[in-house]
Amino acid sequence: MTPERDGKLMILLVDDAPTNIQMLNETLKDGYHLFFATSGRDALRIASESLPDLILLDVIMPDMDGYEVCRKLKADPILRNVPIIFITAMNQQEDEAIGLELGAVDYITKPFNPTIVRLRIRNQIELKRQRDLLARLSHLDGLTAIPNRRALDEALEREWRRGTRSLKPLSLLMIDIDHFKAYNDNCGHLAGDDCLRSFAQSLKIPLGRAADFVGRYGGEEFLAILPETDEKGAMIVAREIQEGVAELAIPHPASPLGTVVTASIGIATAVASREHEHTWLLQGADSALYQAKQEGRNRIVAAPSPSN
Ligand SMILES: [Mg+2]
Repeated sequence: MTPERDGKLMILLVDDAPTNIQMLNETLKDGYHLFFATSGRDALRIASESLPDLILLDVIMPDMDGYEVCRKLKADPILRNVPIIFITAMNQQEDEAIGLELGAVDYITKPFNPTIVRLRIRNQIELKRQRDLLARLSHLDGLTAIPNRRALDEALEREWRRGTRSLKPLSLLMIDIDHFKAYNDNCGHLAGDDCLRSFAQSLKIPLGRAADFVGRYGGEEFLAILPETDEKGAMIVAREIQEGVAELAIPHPASPLGTVVTASIGIATAVASREHEHTWLLQGADSALYQAKQEGRNRIVAAPSPSN
């Protein structure tokens, strides 16, 4: 969970000399929420606990130097994108190439010039803000504003990989609006878009658990990823989703199933293994959904448990 930041961005200051930390603190304390570390080891611990927006990292430190800290940060999938600015003394400029090669975004030289420090940090923070915004936008579905297919594929791959370590079951729900083409033909595409938006919002409510992930997979098809959930748990979530859709009560004058919009859901559950790719679970949910459609729609079908 993201800690309360009072809207201020967080910077981690790492320097083994307390006087340097003090000076940086004076320079930056008005604009940012600051954390401090005086060793590489503390820096790594605080970085993984507080997920800073930027790290100012001294190069020369006893035990673990700035380069080593940088290498470790870049190897951590959660922290690898946090921008790092190295702090070096004037006579260490030949080392700048090493730091930049390791992935640092900039350098600040000692003795500090407060104006330069503030400007360099402001530039990097602004760039990070833009990168974060782009990353968020590229993972959101434009119509429904919930995660898109790319985000779902990444989340599923991540959870599948996590599952190979945890050995806990992972469930996948593939959710499809019944007779959506007839809805569009009958009510028009603008109403179809409204239907998709309402449907998408209704899906989020049963999936209140923080680790669950729901998105639009394409067209009128949605996907819910349920980590550490067995088939029984997945069935409960699927029923809640169907109840939520029923409560929406979106009129569907062209549905042969009744008067309102309904959904079919295919469930697949498996303990992840290295023998299969995450797409294997996707195929399971897809064929369960196909079966639900074949059996008359507006129903939930769980794929038979695959034998690992
Ligand atoms: Mg130092």
